[in-house]
Amino acid sequence: MENKFFDVIIVGAGTGGTTAARFTAKKGLNVCLIDRKKREDIGDKICGDAVGNEIFDILKINHPKDEELSCHIKGAKLYSPNLKKCINLVDPKQTGYIVNRLEFGQRLLNEALDAGVNKFLDKTMVLDLLYKNGTINGVQVKLENGEKVDLRANIIIDASGFYSPLRKKVRSSLIEKDVLREDSILCYREIVKFSPKDQEVQDPEYITLILDQEKAPGGYIWYFPKNESSVNIGIGAFMDYRGKVKDLYKMNVYNEFIKTSKVDILSSGGGVVPVRRPLWSCADNGFILVGDSACQVNPLHGGGIDPSMRAGYHAANSAVHAIENNNNSINELWDYNYNVMTSFGAEFASLDLLRIVLQSLSNKDLNFGLERDLLTGEEILEISFSGELNLSLVNMAVKAFKGISNPNLLLDLNYLRIRMNEISKLYKNFPKNLNQFSNWKEKVIEIYDKIKKMIVSTKKNK
Ligand SMILES: Cc1cc2nc3c(=O)[nH]c(=O)nc-3n(C[C@H](O)[C@H](O)[C@H](O)COP(=O)(O)OP(=O)(O)OC[C@H]3O[C@@H](n4cnc5c(N)ncnc54)[C@H](O)[C@@H]3O)c2cc1C
Repeated sequence: MENKFFDVIIVGAGTGGTTAARFTAKKGLNVCLIDRKKREDIGDKICGDAVGNEIFDILKINHPKDEELSCHIKGAKLYSPNLKKCINLVDPKQTGYIVNRLEFGQRLLNEALDAGVNKFLDKTMVLDLLYKNGTINGVQVKLENGEKVDLRANIIIDASGFYSPLRKKVRSSLIEKDVLREDSILCYREIVKFSPKDQEVQDPEYITLILDQEKAPGGYIWYFPKNESSVNIGIGAFMDYRGKVKDLYKMNVYNEFIKTSKVDILSSGGGVVPVRRPLWSCADNGFILVGDSACQVNPLHGGGIDPSMRAGYHAANSAVHAIENNNNSINELWDYNYNVMTSFGAEFASLDLLRIVLQSLSNKDLNFGLERDLLTGEEILEISFSGELNLSLVNMAVKAFKGISNPNLLLDLNYLRIRMNEISKLYKNFPKNLNQFSNWKEKVIEIYDKIKKMIVSTKKNK
């Protein structure tokens, strides 16, 4: 390889990495984009394939169309475990798309390359970070021919997904290396094609989600339409179900939804989604993490395409400023953390608390809570937009008077609401510089402790 020095090296050409590459290249930086996959496979990821349309307007990039677009979606339908209650989640601000993931990923890659990426290395495995005087200044890669090469850059953007080898190896007191098993969900899904004569796609304009702690412990079952003859169906469950998640899928998803034997399985496979708030810090000296590698996924539904693209954009802006100012220190890159935490980070921290509480509820509680409108569609959307639950006390009291036979659940939900608002405010006031970070972190930990204590005491009182 002739040139081994770049302004920025981006590891991973998924939705996060290609977005970071597009916006750094557009600003004229000398950019190297690397992926271990071969070029034609980039974008081919096991996924539910759903993405809202808002991100394309925000980033001013083309919306999915033609072969990239499987179908349009109006909203989501969320079912209680006994299927008696269906909550319509129709976001007035945006509708959604089901995409052909490979075509979508290929388009994002091509647009990044067209924006001026200087070097694209496919079939190249990034092995490790390189340091100079204690600061990251490059990566070691293994090329297609097996040769190991050191590539240098002022900033490394890690967008290599959940299993990021770089996060695990980074020498940092700010970035946690490991994601707890309890903060991850294991998924399995298939894209199933059948003849419209044999079976109809149900609710073709909505994605369907079913909460069920017995059939999908800790996660949910999904049924997403793709077109008139195929669906993307899957399941997410606690990581402990490792060997059994496919059996759960077969029994509780495939057998429930597929009523004909004449099918083609177009794609099948599993994957892991982080479902917690973003990493404490998504950056350090010379280093920025984007997307799944930074746990930037919506903890409630596991959607990570939109936030990885938002993060890719923020990362690109921070990298551009850092290169302009000839300073790649964490103090310079801190604005990346600030932008992530005060925007979707605040929402995700709040939803993380809700996720932890939902995972602790039984099917009985879920049926009761959803049927009794203890959490309505509007409220769920409100939390999803703002990360806050603005139920007025009057509203809560009215619900309490509806003849509730489970007052503890109501009290717990109210306690949760207060903590969600607290954490959201805390994230919106994320420290502008590193000095106040440890104080801020302690306050976040206090809120998590309160929620964990609430769950323990609820379990004891049962
Ligand atoms: C089953 C499942 C269903 C999902 N459904 C949805 C959904 O419907 N909607 C939604 O928004 N999100 C969904 N998600 C989450 C979503 O897919 C991710 O959040 C999103 O793809 C994150 O993008 P990313 O760019 O961070 O990482 P990825 O898309 O994982 O990209 C990482 C890239 O890095 C490359 N890479 C990894 N290691 C190396 C290495 N050592 N060297 C070089 N390259 C490397 C990989 O080849 C890959 O191309 C789902 C996830 C799963 C598992």
